[in-house]
Amino acid sequence: TDAGTGARTDAGAGSEAAFEIAFKNIYGRAPEGIWAAPGRVNLIGEHTDYNDGYVMPFALPHRTRAAVARRDDGLLRVHSADMDGGVVELRIDDLAPGTTRGWAVYPAAVLWTLRQAGHDIAGADIHYDSNVPVGGGLSSSAALQVVTALALTELHGLDLPRQELALLCQSSENTYVGAPVGVMDQTASACCTEGHALHLDVRGLGQRQVPFDLAAQGLQLLVVDTRVKHAHADGAYGELRAGCEAAAAALGLPALRDVDFDGLDAALAALPDERLRRLTRHVVTENRRVEEVIALLDAGRTREIGPVLTAGHASLRDDFRVSCAELDLVVDTALAAGALGARMTGGGFGGSAIVLVDAGEAERISAEILRALPTARLFPTTAGPGAHRLV
Ligand code: ADP
Ligand code: MG
Repeated sequence: TDAGTGARTDAGAGSEAAFEIAFKNIYGRAPEGIWAAPGRVNLIGEHTDYNDGYVMPFALPHRTRAAVARRDDGLLRVHSADMDGGVVELRIDDLAPGTTRGWAVYPAAVLWTLRQAGHDIAGADIHYDSNVPVGGGLSSSAALQVVTALALTELHGLDLPRQELALLCQSSENTYVGAPVGVMDQTASACCTEGHALHLDVRGLGQRQVPFDLAAQGLQLLVVDTRVKHAHADGAYGELRAGCEAAAAALGLPALRDVDFDGLDAALAALPDERLRRLTRHVVTENRRVEEVIALLDAGRTREIGPVLTAGHASLRDDFRVSCAELDLVVDTALAAGALGARMTGGGFGGSAIVLVDAGEAERISAEILRALPTARLFPTTAGPGAHRLV
């Protein structure tokens, strides 16, 4: 672990040959192939996914790899270079929601869900490694799911559309793991392409790859993992979701996505209380900010997305109230040091922030952020490829 200055550059970045040898040392035979799936950062569009709105993630260069060989004896065996405890062995026939402990729940959930969906997937030996920070809001869990789903389906000659693969992974997390997550993270890992951010319209799942090449414009995006996760995050998510649903219901609309930006004031006036007004204002203005960022990126005016990102942070902090002291400190420090824009990314209450800077200022601004929050982990990033087969 390269604490302080970077992600875990030692793992997940080693050669495929060394990774193959690791598999052989664990399972005593060669893998049939190696796949990779990335973590993600959401550029803009936060807490909009469960309001049928817009999100705009891009893939990190950080990825989770899986070396895989099929088995025909009904066993799923998984091992991770990043987890203690050795090989976890599961009987496919015994898999059932709520029964698998520890990290193996994610691959077990994917295999179970694929089979529930009617795909005839056999057992497998799988070895993983990753350089996606775990638990940092950068979706190491989605990378783990997607790499598993892609490897198992491809090994069985199934060529599922990427969005369908992502939906199966989401379903596996909802049903088997038991977490009521949206579909953004898995879609990002499965569908993103290098040099682009992915505009995903969660209603209808329309997708467009939007050019997002920072280097060409002399810019850098820093990811700052605060390495804090406040305990109330999970409970708050459910309450926020219920609040948004209550606001939409009070307005007689299917979802807050259906509040027109130009009709926002009228909608706010029609809501019964201040909390629902705050939640609504965030979702409606956030969808608008996604549209603004897309228009700027399409026009090649990438620098100008900075203030839109910063406005998104203010909205998450003041209206949606999902920021925290550490995230605010990172954003405020970055802006005071001359960043073009900064915001928390992900669900909030900890996790990561993103900071847009002129490339020449990246080192100085990074140092100031780390001085303000020495326990943070910070790395510059670019938009990497989505899930793919390596070998
Ligand atoms: P995030 O997705 O933000 O990184 P989560 O809490 O959603 O955080 O997912 C982290 C969990 O995913 C880990 O606790 C572990 O169970 C699983 N996980 C992620 N990466 C790996 C890995 N490389 N090997 C094994 N398990 C992993
Ligand atoms: Mg996750």
